[in-house]
Amino acid sequence: MALQQLPRIERLDLAVLRLPAWHPEAAGSPTAPVYGYVIDHPDGAIVFDTGVGADNEFIDAVYAPDHLGLDDALHAVGIELADVVAVVNSHLHFDHCGQNPLFYGSDVPCYVQQAELDAVERDQFYTDPVWALAPTGQQRAVDGDLAIAEGVTIMATPGHTAGHHSVLVESGEGCAVLAGQVVWHADEFRDERATAANVEAKERRGDAIESIRRLKALRPQVVHFAHCSALHADGAGEDAELRLRSPRG
Ligand SMILES: [Zn+2]
Repeated sequence: MALQQLPRIERLDLAVLRLPAWHPEAAGSPTAPVYGYVIDHPDGAIVFDTGVGADNEFIDAVYAPDHLGLDDALHAVGIELADVVAVVNSHLHFDHCGQNPLFYGSDVPCYVQQAELDAVERDQFYTDPVWALAPTGQQRAVDGDLAIAEGVTIMATPGHTAGHHSVLVESGEGCAVLAGQVVWHADEFRDERATAANVEAKERRGDAIESIRRLKALRPQVVHFAHCSALHADGAGEDAELRLRSPRG
């Protein structure tokens, strides 16, 4: 089921990371923004990615993040933490789930692919598990696609990680996509490229390109990213060069 109109989608500027020299994206820019999003859905606000947490010494030492509280970021767009009815994490790296604990102990469901939970289990360096793992009653392990509200569907988009997913927001007047870290930079999406920096696992680069194509095939009006400005189908936005077009068209 789709909504009649697209709900308001607001970007939440949650952090700026200082990328260490060894970080695969550091060559492009020494800093990186971290964006979450909120969908102002008629049934309640849905948060997509929660940025970086504030209490991990290792993360603070390596990335020296400038940090904005999710509560303040939401408040700035007229939404309160208590208005949030669901959290979706694109994946469980530290800069996408860091403020999930604000919701732990409530009845807010936290949606993530089972493959991400498996990765946290397998690799102690995958993320901060205190941030990443919701209490059992709140954790919603997803396997593939899942409709979570009217017009709001989780879509599996593996590549950057095995369990990366995106969110499609559909309405009678068109659709929007929250694509997380399907790509690092919007031009990779436009050109359908999987870079070695964003998709370190060689064997997943084919999946990453398929994920981009899957989202493009929905013909979204706008695609929002975790570390880059949005792409707009009509060429609107900050950078008119960043258009949603095929590499050949
Ligand atoms: Zn990541």
